[in-house]
Amino acid sequence: MTFSPDRPTMIEFRDVHKYYGDYHALRGINGTIRAGEFFSLLGPSGCGKTTLLRTIAGFEGIDNGAVLIDGKDMAKVPANARPTNMVFQSYAIFPHMSVAENVGFGLRRDPRSRTEKAAAVEEALEMVGLKGYGARAAHALSGGQRQRVALARALILKPKVLLLDEPLSALDKKMREHMQVELIKLQRQVGITFILVTHDQEEALVMSDRIAVMFEGQIAQLADPETLYRRPNGRKVADFIGTMNFIPCQILSETGGRIEVEAKGLGRVMLDEDQVPPARGEGEPVVGLRPETLTMLYPGQEPQERAVAGRIDEVIYFGDMTYYDVFIGGTDVEVRLSMRNVPGRPVLDVGTEVQLAWSPSALVLFR
Ligand code: ATP
Repeated sequence: MTFSPDRPTMIEFRDVHKYYGDYHALRGINGTIRAGEFFSLLGPSGCGKTTLLRTIAGFEGIDNGAVLIDGKDMAKVPANARPTNMVFQSYAIFPHMSVAENVGFGLRRDPRSRTEKAAAVEEALEMVGLKGYGARAAHALSGGQRQRVALARALILKPKVLLLDEPLSALDKKMREHMQVELIKLQRQVGITFILVTHDQEEALVMSDRIAVMFEGQIAQLADPETLYRRPNGRKVADFIGTMNFIPCQILSETGGRIEVEAKGLGRVMLDEDQVPPARGEGEPVVGLRPETLTMLYPGQEPQERAVAGRIDEVIYFGDMTYYDVFIGGTDVEVRLSMRNVPGRPVLDVGTEVQLAWSPSALVLFR
């Protein structure tokens, strides 16, 4: 990873509120996005991520608070005077124009000579892997190529911040995965701040240096992918990012930041401070445990840490992965095993008695 967390702030949200009529779409957004960061706004449909992106671009005014770009309050700065550029969901390119005309469109009022502009177009095309495509008709391009043209058109204006509103959502799965890698490479190459809107948690985890997870007009957690995955700060974030087993538990004691709980099927376990996010009031206490952190022990294998006896209730075979539901006394837990970790082992049948190894450090308490 080339991104350094010491980079200066590029975008700052200070208590940003936005109403559409009576509807409170952004409800006190705070946070910073750093220069050179690949940042994602992630959340379910309607949570306000596009609205927030549009407040950066200046397409949307705000009703309270401030949006700062590069240290400057944007309140009175119109969209066309901001150092940002947006690549849209539908990557609207002009089908009747050539690729080069599309890319050069933003330079039409630029005072540079025709030759200089042509060189800039060629440079932008090369950046997105479309060197030599300038004379092609835009309508004859594939979805992935159109996406690249849209990117080149935005990059040619040399913005400090590139805003991407679900740019890959129209592509099929394979192309989308390919373009995800391309976008990461491109961002590292140009080094400017990329801000991506997506509702796809996998996409956000794969691509981002940091992610703001949004629900109902608020940022629930702003962190790097690993922290979001390992230490979600609430049940909602834990549920939205990946899959998590929620196991009912009882709090036994609290001493000096450490909490001892009795979790159904797992027994007593002592949790450190960093395993107990501060957010409260989400219902009865549960411990969260990711399915990938559980390991099925085959006969003769000794557990590294703790093990619990269980019975397989359900098996779903995915080729390289197998998902099991295992009853561990009072509750079922999902276990996901990569077949790479168990070479040559057979897929186990429903009803098989197994031992599950688990690690206390993989638990998070939600209360
Ligand atoms: P999606 O992934 O579906 O695009 P989103 O998280 O980007 O969702 P926004 O588009 O920011 O959500 O919308 C947030 C809320 O504000 C939604 O409930 C939406 O209906 C509402 N909204 C957005 N734009 C307008 C508008 N111009 N007028 C009225 N309500 C709006």
